Amino acid sequence: MTTTIPTNSVTDRGLRRYADVRDLLPDVDNPSPLLRLNRVVTGEVYLKLEWLNPFGSVKDRAAAAILAGLERDVGLDGRHLVEATSGNTGIALAALAALHRIPVTVTVPEGIPEEKKVILRMLGAEVWETPDDLCPMDMPKDGAIALARSLVASENRFVLGDQYRNHDNVTAHYTTTGPEIWRQTEGRVRWFVTGLGTGGTVTGVGRYLKERDRSIKVVAVEPQPGHRIPGLKSLAEAKQPEILDLDLIDELVRVDDEPAYDTTRRLWREEALTVGPSTGAVVAAIGRLDIGEEEPVVGISADSGFKYTTYLAETLGDEGLPRP
Ligand code: PMP
Repeated sequence: MTTTIPTNSVTDRGLRRYADVRDLLPDVDNPSPLLRLNRVVTGEVYLKLEWLNPFGSVKDRAAAAILAGLERDVGLDGRHLVEATSGNTGIALAALAALHRIPVTVTVPEGIPEEKKVILRMLGAEVWETPDDLCPMDMPKDGAIALARSLVASENRFVLGDQYRNHDNVTAHYTTTGPEIWRQTEGRVRWFVTGLGTGGTVTGVGRYLKERDRSIKVVAVEPQPGHRIPGLKSLAEAKQPEILDLDLIDELVRVDDEPAYDTTRRLWREEALTVGPSTGAVVAAIGRLDIGEEEPVVGISADSGFKYTTYLAETLGDEGLPRP
């Protein structure tokens, strides 16, 4: 017997049947999962699994909000979207822009994983590489952000997502990620920990949670200068993003590459969680915090490790080879 879905099928979240890929985007009624860690850290620690979002990362939220904001403010018809990205924002923007039939050009640091460049091109984006390290910068004059801005200045049809300045990036987390965490922990969350890129996540979630309860601790994780963790930004070597509100941050924890990658491997092997390196950095930071008993922690797992296999391969020794 065949089952036919009625042609007028509508999204029914109870059945997990969706009429449009955008209905898979997370919000308080369709939150990304909160998963408890049981082995790599002690205490009541949850990861919010953002890689289960439809385009694979925490940036699905910002991209959807940025695109909706552009549609509202400048219109999208006949436009060409440009964005500087370490990959995840560009991936979500390219996927969503395709639904509006608008072309996308992304400027990316050349060092980001090849996997991300292929994904961007699979989605139809034009990819321009710049000599930045891993996160778009605008300090060197040929950085990804500077290139995106000069492109947009050159022609009227170009429009910039501008995730480092665009407050819709923060609003996305204030209206979705924050309320989801509050509800999923039934208001018990005491610590929130996330990696620092544009600062959209920490600012939006931090603001929402502190409005609920000012004593909730907000922690941002920063990589070392010259790091190998795409998506994260070292404030020591890059300009502070304009949307980042440092006043919301109780602790800024620096996690170097080695502990971040060691923890990433432990999450794969001990928790069966195939996360990317920024999640390893978040969990390594959680392990260093002075967290009391009965203090639930929520960390952001921004993306999956499947788009970093070339990077992860560099960190593997001979240990995976069969023993004689
Ligand atoms: N982790 C990864 C893998 C990312 O791509 C990003 C986004 N740059 C972040 C963390 C940080 O998120 P945000 O930009 O909201 O600070």
